[in-house]
Amino acid sequence: MIRRAEAAPASPKRVITMSTTDEGSLVLLEALLASAPVGIAFVDRDLRVARINVAMANVLGCAVEECLGRSARDLSPPGLWPIAEFALRRVLETGESIHDYEFSGPDARREGRRYWIASVFPVRVNGAWVGGVGAVIRDITARVRAAERERAQAKRRERSYVLADALVAATSSRDVIAAVVEHGAAAMDAAGCVVALRSHDGRRIELLGARGMPTDVEAEWRRFTIDAPTPLSYVARTGMPLFLESADDWARHFPELSGLAADVGHRANAVVPLMVEGESIGALGLAFEHARSFSDDERSFAMTLGRQCALALERARLLEAERAARSEADTANQVKTQFLATMSHELRTPLNAIGGYAELLELGIHGPVTEAQRNVLSRIQRSQHHLLSLINNVLNLVKLDTHHVRYDFSVVSLAAALEFVAEATGPQVQAKHLRYDTSACSRELTVRADPEKLRQILLNLLSNAIKFTDEGGAIAIACSADRGTVRIHVRDSGIGIADDQRERIFEPFVQVGRRLNRPMEGTGLGLAISRELARGMGGDLEVESTLGEGSSFTLSLPRASA
Ligand code: ADP
Repeated sequence: MIRRAEAAPASPKRVITMSTTDEGSLVLLEALLASAPVGIAFVDRDLRVARINVAMANVLGCAVEECLGRSARDLSPPGLWPIAEFALRRVLETGESIHDYEFSGPDARREGRRYWIASVFPVRVNGAWVGGVGAVIRDITARVRAAERERAQAKRRERSYVLADALVAATSSRDVIAAVVEHGAAAMDAAGCVVALRSHDGRRIELLGARGMPTDVEAEWRRFTIDAPTPLSYVARTGMPLFLESADDWARHFPELSGLAADVGHRANAVVPLMVEGESIGALGLAFEHARSFSDDERSFAMTLGRQCALALERARLLEAERAARSEADTANQVKTQFLATMSHELRTPLNAIGGYAELLELGIHGPVTEAQRNVLSRIQRSQHHLLSLINNVLNLVKLDTHHVRYDFSVVSLAAALEFVAEATGPQVQAKHLRYDTSACSRELTVRADPEKLRQILLNLLSNAIKFTDEGGAIAIACSADRGTVRIHVRDSGIGIADDQRERIFEPFVQVGRRLNRPMEGTGLGLAISRELARGMGGDLEVESTLGEGSSFTLSLPRASA
């Protein structure tokens, strides 16, 4: 009968019309049993198989005929019998069904486990128990595996967020490696994780972080050559990922090391390259205690982990290089500042002496002075003044640089400050026949500033305006104010400044179009100092200019409250 029923579904297209006679419904029932995707069996009181369908026989790993009449105990795959016996006996003893209990056991045909859900029940005919037990069993391995996969994916996702956060916060390679080793291993449920980088010459591999590796092995393998027969060197060398799924894989690909891997307890490994701009900088290895096959999902997750690690390492490397460069520059700057401060100080003493002696000579204290000698003496004095102002400027700049400038703030009247600079620059303005206009500046305005520093800035701006404006040109000082700020505009009709030089002129020692044969024309420090002073007083110094038409420097300062 069973054989007949098994033959029925051979061609699903052939439709057999069944009669509703007893014989017909029996055939139908057999066909139903044989075709059902669920395992069905009937065991008698002695737990011997009385009826069984193909699906159930498959679970037991034998043909239907081989199962009939045999004890369920003999047929059960190892490990499954205790579960089956418990259920069967309980039903026999209590006459009550057990529904939907889930269990797992070894796969009878392949390696690995399978999962089932079963119901066991007393078989009754017209309400009378026939004395045997029926069992229906459904294979839910695919569902369980899918749920496992989903759980693993969710865990990986969650861990990868934690890792991403840790990598964003990482500012050194050490932080990056520590984060990857900790969270990467957890995300993949790995027993161990290592990050290995190639040395600068590319010939060696260095383990920079390891987790789940015995310390003696870690110490022994801290450094090895790129040609060493290890998964890490293979991947770092070729830039190709490597997945070793079992001890066999180890023995086949790395026979020299398979014993060590087994001793350490690593049966499977996923090793992915760390690539930066197409170049392999090292490898990331994950080790697992059990043989396993890596799903596509796991493989691509491991690759993503490698990419994240490589990017974060590169970012950390750049940050580290920047930090090192900055600290080097800071040291160099300190040395320079110290040098300038000492030199300026040392130079001032003999320079003052030169000025003093020249003055004595000029006064005729050491005898009468001829006209030619007086001429030379005045040149010496001019040079001495220039050199002294240069040195003073350098000292000023050093002080600003090292934040050693003190500001004595007070309420300063613009009128007074402008008067001072007009007086100081009057002779030069006249000598060049320049028009000088300050009428567009309200005399009542006051600013909060250090008066001496304000005068210094205005003097610098005005001297520049005079210096860079041809004879007969015009210079004007205008003022504007809003509630909090006063702006002083120093305008000239001079040579102007090219667009690309406009910001550079505020850098120390920058002089546009400087000619070495005109050494007396300034130091290139005035604007750098002026802007620093303006900012130090809570204001700023900016410029607008058109080449060939003139410039306008705007000094802004906090308005003094009335
Ligand atoms: P210095 O005037 O001693 O050279 P500054 O720092 O005061 O140094 O000025 C830097 C450079 O900016 C000058 O050498 C000049 O090239 C340019 N500059 C400054 N003021 C003017 C101006 N009013 N017109 C044109 N160029 C100017």
